Amino acid sequence: MTAVAGLMDYAEVIERFDPVLGLEVHTELSTNTKMFCGCENVFGGEPNTHTCPTCLGLPGALPVVNGKAVESAIRIGLALNCQIAEWCRFARKNYFYPDMPKNFQTSQYDEPIAFDGWLDVTLDDGEVVRVEIERAHMEEDTGKSLHVGGATGRIHGADHSLLDYNRAGVPLIEIVTKPITGTGARAPEVARAYVSTLRELLRALDVSDVRMDQGSLRCDANVSLMAKDATEFGTRTETKNVNSLRSVERAVRYEMTRQGALLAEGGKVTQETRHFQEADGTTSAGRTKETAEDYRYFPEPDLVPIAPSREWVEELRKTLPEKPAERRKRIQTEWDLSDAELRDLFNVGAVELVAATVEAGASSKEARGWWVSTLAQEANAREVELAELPITPAQVAEVIALVGSGELTNKLAKEVVQGVLAGEGSPREVVEKRGLKVVSDDSALLAAVDEALAAQPDIADKIRGGKVQAAGAIVGAVMKATKGQADAKRVRELIIERVGA
Ligand code: ADP
Ligand code: MG
Ligand code: ZN
Repeated sequence: MTAVAGLMDYAEVIERFDPVLGLEVHTELSTNTKMFCGCENVFGGEPNTHTCPTCLGLPGALPVVNGKAVESAIRIGLALNCQIAEWCRFARKNYFYPDMPKNFQTSQYDEPIAFDGWLDVTLDDGEVVRVEIERAHMEEDTGKSLHVGGATGRIHGADHSLLDYNRAGVPLIEIVTKPITGTGARAPEVARAYVSTLRELLRALDVSDVRMDQGSLRCDANVSLMAKDATEFGTRTETKNVNSLRSVERAVRYEMTRQGALLAEGGKVTQETRHFQEADGTTSAGRTKETAEDYRYFPEPDLVPIAPSREWVEELRKTLPEKPAERRKRIQTEWDLSDAELRDLFNVGAVELVAATVEAGASSKEARGWWVSTLAQEANAREVELAELPITPAQVAEVIALVGSGELTNKLAKEVVQGVLAGEGSPREVVEKRGLKVVSDDSALLAAVDEALAAQPDIADKIRGGKVQAAGAIVGAVMKATKGQADAKRVRELIIERVGA
């Protein structure tokens, strides 16, 4: 039975097949400079302003390895419980693409800096799945092509294309899992949880911005199906550049239902790359997959081999953050969270953000309040990850401090946050620009109080006669007149004073 043409019902896929996953995650390192030259490593910027002869691949330019990038690679490898190579080299991966000016990518091939590790991943219900890591290797990013004139931004239908090499040569670490088996119906969830846990770990290592929306964390998801009685893995597809955690889950699930239908009809899965479409959650065929031979890998002759001393590796091991699972336990105790609260915190991807907000001076309860409710709703509405919202933990802490000092009410604080999200500047700038300060000047408040009392003389009489609770209506009128910027408690005091009750 196929639920949708070309797709098998998910329950049937699980009944007839075992899914096998392989996840490749690329992360751009947030080093000051690029991988093999001194160009600044920043996101964006005027096109082609962060370039030099080396990252433009001009003849005769010589690369030099970025030591900080090697350090980050080793720390990532150690955090993933990998072996660190005693000696390894870069390799040239040869292919032509206009955004890659050298016509080869400097990468690592059979000698990765880190290999044979694992990462424990906790699923929503607390079950822990150990994902084996095959390797983590160093390479460089490519530039970006911009296709102009077409409706879709794709090369098809475009009038011309532009090239921006600012990103060419940005340090990348590629982390590749061994085939992940035995996850059954939970395969899509395991894929998402793995990327989420890895992202958290990289953030804690402070080696990358890990922004899936800006491409500093990118995931390619390999999926295949094995019939229940099969002894060998099936043919895999590789869905490229899946740009959010939610998309990772959807892409894996979609591929399972597509491959299930294909195999059930006696068809064959083609080994190919596929593209994920955010809009409808489907994947479509890309290019048929090259094999390693197509790339004509060979050792890079312009770079010296990397031979990290064991002393250095042990020094770096001391700089590792806690393991994600241990961190989870500690956070639960320290922030006094129920299992459900802890789960929510992780599910919305708020742990690091709350921790950073606490670091910036807020209480964990208030920090959690903002990230898990208002901001999580905002992220949901925009269909982005929480960390991708254009507000920083320091800014959230600033808003919390403004409420604490009485300069903002909770209601005004929400408006300030909206202003920051809309790109109007820091919380203080938004307060200034929108004129959102609590009106704490009594003379300004008194004028509004007098006006409200004069407009409702019968209520003024009631209050005067001792019915103090009638003051609520006047408080309401004053709050309305001051656009909610008054401190309601102070307004009430002024009303009582004014009528002489
Ligand atoms: P490529 O160069 O094709 O990207 P990699 O070795 O970098 O190959 O990554 C392939 C990924 O797919 C790895 O995570 C690997 O464990 C996984 N993988 C290998 N075979 C299968 C399979 N049959 N089904 C699913 N995943 C697979
Ligand atoms: Mg690969
Ligand atoms: Zn350069």
